[in-house]
Amino acid sequence: MGVYDLGIIGGGPAGYTAALRAKKCGLSVVLFEENKLGGVCLNRGCIPTKTILHSAELFSDLSRAADLGVVVENAKVDFPAIMAHKDAVVEKLRKNLELSVKNAKIDVVNAHANLKDRNHIEADGETYDCAKIIVATGSSPRELPNIKFDHRFILSSDDVLSLTELPKSILIIGSGAIGLEWARIFSALGTEVEIVEVGKNLLPIADIEVSKRVERLFKAKKIKFYTETSVDKIAAGEVTLSNGEILCPEKVLMSVGRVPATREKIEGVEYLGDVSGGIQLAHCAIKQALRSIEGISFDETLVPSVIYGTPEIAWVGAREQDLEPGTFEKSILLISALGKSHCDNCTDGFIKILSKDGLIIGAHIVSKEASSLIHQVLIAIQNKIPAEKLKEVCFAHPTYSEGIFECL
Ligand SMILES: Cc1cc2nc3c(=O)[nH]c(=O)nc-3n(C[C@H](O)[C@H](O)[C@H](O)COP(=O)(O)OP(=O)(O)OC[C@H]3O[C@@H](n4cnc5c(N)ncnc54)[C@H](O)[C@@H]3O)c2cc1C
Repeated sequence: MGVYDLGIIGGGPAGYTAALRAKKCGLSVVLFEENKLGGVCLNRGCIPTKTILHSAELFSDLSRAADLGVVVENAKVDFPAIMAHKDAVVEKLRKNLELSVKNAKIDVVNAHANLKDRNHIEADGETYDCAKIIVATGSSPRELPNIKFDHRFILSSDDVLSLTELPKSILIIGSGAIGLEWARIFSALGTEVEIVEVGKNLLPIADIEVSKRVERLFKAKKIKFYTETSVDKIAAGEVTLSNGEILCPEKVLMSVGRVPATREKIEGVEYLGDVSGGIQLAHCAIKQALRSIEGISFDETLVPSVIYGTPEIAWVGAREQDLEPGTFEKSILLISALGKSHCDNCTDGFIKILSKDGLIIGAHIVSKEASSLIHQVLIAIQNKIPAEKLKEVCFAHPTYSEGIFECL
C-alpha cells in the first residue's frame, strides 16, 4: 500500500497545480489521472479551442486584408490541417506539463481512481493511504432532458474537436462562452451558423449591454440566432424549435453547460475546480488549488470571464442589471474613440465601468485585447484603488489601455 501526504484524483488545472505546489512545499504526492494530464482545459477546452479560433480568424482577416493593402489571393481553409495544428499545440503543452510533473518527482498513476474514504484511494487494485485527499475530477458536457448526444449529429464540445470535415451549417444550442466561441470559429471558417438560446439575450451571463453588443456583432456576421427559444425535439436530422420553426443543419453542437463529475462529497476531502460545483473556469480551479496548498487568499467573487474572438469580451464584478438604479455611476467609452482601434481596423466595442462611492465595482469590455485589459480594472477593484487614483497612472499611447483612463 502506497503511503502519501497528499493524494489527488484528477490531473487537470486544479489537480496538477495542487500537485506541483504541494511537492514544492515538501509533501509526498500521488496524482491519479485516468485520461491525459492537463484535463479538459489543455486537452478538450481552453487550449484547443483558442488554437482553432486563431486559425479561423486568421483566415477571416485575410479575406479583408486587401482593404489594408495586403493582397492575398486564393486563401482557403484546410480544415484537417487546422485540426492537426491544434493537436500539435495541445501535445506540445501536454509534454511540457508531463515533464514538469516528472521533474517534480510526483508519482502519477494512470488509472481510474476510486475514493474509498477520507484517507484512502483505490486504483488498479491497489490502495493508497493519504493523509489528505483532493478530488479534482472536473466536469462533463450537460445534456438536456429531451436531447442527448449521439456523437454524430448532436455533438458535445468534446466531439466537435474530432470533426474531420468542416460542416456547411451548424446549429448551436446555448450561447454561453463555449457556444459563442464555437459560433465565432465556424462563422470565420465559412460555416453557416445558427444559435438557439433560451434566455432573453445572447450570452445571458453577461452585462446586458455586452449581450446586446454581441447580438449586433453576430447580426453583422450573419450569424442567425433565436432568443427566448428552446429546442423541442431533434429527429431524423430535423430540429424543431419551441417557436414551431424546423431547422435542418448539417450538425448540432449542444453547449448548455457542464455537470460536475460527482455531487457526492465525503467530509474531510477537499473538492477543487469544476467538480466543486462553483465557477467552471481554469483560472478559478488554479487559484482554488493555490489557496488550498499555499493558503493564498482568493476572492471568488472577483473571477474574470473572457470570451475569445474578435473583438474579445471580458468582464468582472457587478453587472448593471443587478444593481439598484441610482445607486451607482456608469461610464462608457466607445473603442472607436481610441486611435489604436483605427490603426488595428478593430473599432467595434466599448469599455464600461461601474462604480460606487468612487470605487470601481464592475467592468465590462468588448474590444481587441479585452482579455488583458480586464486585469487592469480587476487589480483596482480587488485593491480598492479609487478611480481618482487610477486616473493618475500614465497610460501609453496609442493603446487600448488608454481607454480605461478615458472611461474613468
Ligand atoms: C470547450 C471548452 C472551452 C473552455 N475554455 C476555457 C477558457 O478559455 N478559459 C477557462 O478558464 N476555462 C475554459 N474552459 C473550462 C476549463 O476547461 C475548466 O474549468 C477546467 O478544465 C477545470 O479544471 P479541473 O482541474 O477542475 O478539471 P478538468 O480539467 O476537467 O480535469 C479533471 C481531470 O480528472 C480526470 N478524472 C476524472 N475522474 C477521474 C477518476 N476517477 N480517476 C482519475 N482521473 C479522473 C479527468 O480525466 C480529467 O483529466 C473550457 C471548457 C471547455 C469544455
